[in-house]
Amino acid sequence: MKKTPKLSASRALVEDLVAGSRILAMHEVLDAYGHISARCDKRPDRFIMSRSRAPALVTAADLMELDADSEPLPGDKRKGFIERYIHGEIYRTRPHVMAVVHSHSPSVIPFGATRTKLRPIYHMGSFLWSGVPVFEIRKKRENNDLLVRDRPLGQALAESLGGCNCVLMRGHGMTVVGDGVPEAVFRAIYTEMNARLQLQATLLEGPIEFLSEEEGKRSTVSNRGTLERPWELWKTKALGRK
Ligand code: MN
Repeated sequence: MKKTPKLSASRALVEDLVAGSRILAMHEVLDAYGHISARCDKRPDRFIMSRSRAPALVTAADLMELDADSEPLPGDKRKGFIERYIHGEIYRTRPHVMAVVHSHSPSVIPFGATRTKLRPIYHMGSFLWSGVPVFEIRKKRENNDLLVRDRPLGQALAESLGGCNCVLMRGHGMTVVGDGVPEAVFRAIYTEMNARLQLQATLLEGPIEFLSEEEGKRSTVSNRGTLERPWELWKTKALGRK
């Protein structure tokens, strides 16, 4: 077997990333596509993500360490995800972001393709109080295949995200950030659910009462405080330890 460079991340981070990948697959937020990454805890200028592989199948041996330009370390010949630049460019522009999830989460797609804004409809989606911008890839590159396949496109996406927690990508999907793997996973799952509930609410008599900015901010802090509970449950299920 070919030798691959040893990861500089802690074992705990490696385990969380493997769990995160499988949890998102379990919730059908990721299918054969999409990915999760984490900023390397020992080398903050680098990040860790799987080689190009379906998230449900990811093991520790699939994880790669990528440099600040989203390129593999010398000697690592494995094929990385085309869209790893999404992650690298967000880590570059947002020093406090510790984990990123990119998905093709189906319920968010209509919000990226219409004028209706995705907004926090319940407390689990409260982190959306920050606003949910839509990344229009055409503004950066008229002739595109929707994929964030290089650094300039990654940079443009990171610019659209700005200081927000979630950015939608027109005709493609979404990307969320968190202060760690559990929070990014939580946000990816509840962005999908919030979108589904918002769509359902439009069938009923409106107008829809969304969370206020203050409620959103307060609830985001509360959710951080109880994150350990869903994380323990999801991780146990995903790693088959029960
Ligand atoms: Mn994608």
